[in-house]
Amino acid sequence: MNNRKPASNQVLAAIPTKDYQRLRVQLEPVTLKFERVLYEPGQAIRHVYFPIDCLVSLLTAVDKRRTLEVGMIGNEGMTGMPFILGMGVSGVRALVQGGGNALRMASGPFRIEFDRNRPLQRALFRYTYALMAQISQTAACNRFHDAEARLARWLLMTRERVGSDEFPLTHVFLAHMLGLRREGVTEAASALKRRKLIIYSRGQIQILDVKGLKASSCACYRIVNKVFQRAAIAA
Ligand SMILES: [Zn+2]
Repeated sequence: MNNRKPASNQVLAAIPTKDYQRLRVQLEPVTLKFERVLYEPGQAIRHVYFPIDCLVSLLTAVDKRRTLEVGMIGNEGMTGMPFILGMGVSGVRALVQGGGNALRMASGPFRIEFDRNRPLQRALFRYTYALMAQISQTAACNRFHDAEARLARWLLMTRERVGSDEFPLTHVFLAHMLGLRREGVTEAASALKRRKLIIYSRGQIQILDVKGLKASSCACYRIVNKVFQRAAIAA
């Protein structure tokens, strides 16, 4: 890795070069595969990850079979929020939802660096503020908004974080993300497909009409994006 900052992770990009140098030597490039589990609830966090072009879902287990996505982390953030708050154990499952590249750092060195690097603290506090807003909004969304609007929101959020209009996705996987029965996912996806907003086949989904998808999404998409913009402007 050279001395240049990876502008593709927004937290790292917000840190001035002189403060980034110490951090840089401890960051390890990794490729995360689709469906890899990074953290399990109640287990120690061994690494924090700064996504570059991958996407990590935070999932809460409802019971042995069912999970529900409560948050999504892409290149705007970092996995391992409990560390920022002084806790070394995850409360949720962190699952790679979109495979790709990330930079990771072992939790011990991260703790030392976080405690002495003010720009890193500031960037991560702002990010935590935005992520908490996303988690709160997702809780309300899961309870009050219909499957089609939630699916549209979810597709838009995923698209922005993986930087592509096409990504691998199955109905079973979506059911775990959205807390729906598989038939519920099929119904919502078919409705979006009929309106020519998306197409899908063989585990791949493609977004055809972003504007139309935005119009179909609930307001949660816009509300959360505004919070992230506010947190970025505060930089
Ligand atoms: Zn919503």
